[in-house]
Amino acid sequence: MKRVNLLESDTDFIEELDSADFIGGFRDCFTCGTCTAGCPVHRANEDYNPLRIIRMLVLGLKQEILRGNIIWLCSDCYTCQENCPMGVKITDIINHLKNLATREKNVPLGVSTQEKLLKDQGKIYIIDDFDNKKRAKVGLPSLPAMVEEAKALLRQKWNRET
Ligand code: SF4
Ligand code: SF4
Repeated sequence: MKRVNLLESDTDFIEELDSADFIGGFRDCFTCGTCTAGCPVHRANEDYNPLRIIRMLVLGLKQEILRGNIIWLCSDCYTCQENCPMGVKITDIINHLKNLATREKNVPLGVSTQEKLLKDQGKIYIIDDFDNKKRAKVGLPSLPAMVEEAKALLRQKWNRET
């Protein structure tokens, strides 16, 4: 595992996170490891470790976190957040970090491809005749190939942010 470089610590980043109500409290972490022990992604990939992400935050290692791909492995299952004895909002924190990384245009190709599909089609997966025939066989109604309402909503949101 890569060593952290404490010379890269960004104290402004720690203060910025401390002042954000919805993610404050991460300093209460006492490194019990419960988050990592219950994390399904950690079970599949030992390099992924939510406790390590929280410790990197406490140390202010902003760029180390935002430039890497590690936060994108989190599957948003909320197991860690629900189990943390100190109430650290681990999943919310990781989602906040994903938003910050997105603002810095550090998004893995797979995620940006899904984002483009959503923007263009309102769906990540296109429903075609084949899918609708399978649905009809089990008595389910047809679905449209694209979701115009979702496209319109997402376009509005992206236009506001860009
Ligand atoms: S479960 Fe909570 S207190 Fe325990 S290591 Fe994870 S973040 Fe820290
Ligand atoms: S929310 Fe993310 S970090 Fe937490 S347990 Fe699930 S996959 Fe692991």
